[in-house]
Amino acid sequence: MTIVSVRGLCKRFGDLEVLKGIDLDVERGEVVVVMGPSGSGKTTLIRCLNLLESPEAGSVSVCGAGLDCGAALSKRAVRDIRRHTAMVFQQFNLFPHMTALQNVMEGPVSVRGLPRAQAADLGRRLLGRVGLGDKYDCYPAKLSGGQKQRVAIARALAMEPEVILFDEPTSALDPELHAEVLQVMRELAREGMTMVVVTHETAFAREVADRVVFMDGGTVIEQGPPSSFFTKPAHPRVRTFLQLVA
Ligand code: ADP
Repeated sequence: MTIVSVRGLCKRFGDLEVLKGIDLDVERGEVVVVMGPSGSGKTTLIRCLNLLESPEAGSVSVCGAGLDCGAALSKRAVRDIRRHTAMVFQQFNLFPHMTALQNVMEGPVSVRGLPRAQAADLGRRLLGRVGLGDKYDCYPAKLSGGQKQRVAIARALAMEPEVILFDEPTSALDPELHAEVLQVMRELAREGMTMVVVTHETAFAREVADRVVFMDGGTVIEQGPPSSFFTKPAHPRVRTFLQLVA
């Protein structure tokens, strides 16, 4: 079953054409890793998937909630799409004045309308699941980058999304903290979560991705399962990139 379907997606910032007609389908349970050089449009693409950016043309559909992007974005369609998606950001984007538990509870209470006690139970369970069962009451300033990102993943899970979008989730972290975040993501993938992950982590992509999508200059120039993508990429641009990051 197709969870995310994107057709002819175009996005520009002023004169800069950043996405030039992207087509992308993501199946339920699939892990899609998006790679490509800096500035190729990866972040813009996943921000368009939940309408954090407004595309000028094309269509986005998530779990049947669809939107043609040419006209003014319908608030209702945007809300429907966001209900099915959650995003994990490079810079965590936690609320600094809330504890880890309050950060995770916020969405369930204010967006899903869960009673606070139920949201707190859910939050404790999810923080336990990402290995932070002893950090409920810590404020973000007292957490390491890896712990903050794991709170952010628990917060995303609390929205019970159909798909989680990860925007370079380890790139703001010191190298020794990458593993703890990637381990949580690996477990989510194993449990069948549908994930779109922008990352340069080639080892993670090789092991966890079902498909690697490579962007260059606002288009998808190659995609395939990691077994072929990493061993015999067809496009010279991909070969050069892989030599640089490997
Ligand atoms: P990537 O994630 O592949 O590094 P991005 O999607 O972040 O690429 O950016 C693609 C291009 O769009 C870059 O040239 C970037 O500077 C530009 N860009 C991204 N966001 C904005 C914005 N909000 N305003 C203006 N230009 C932007």
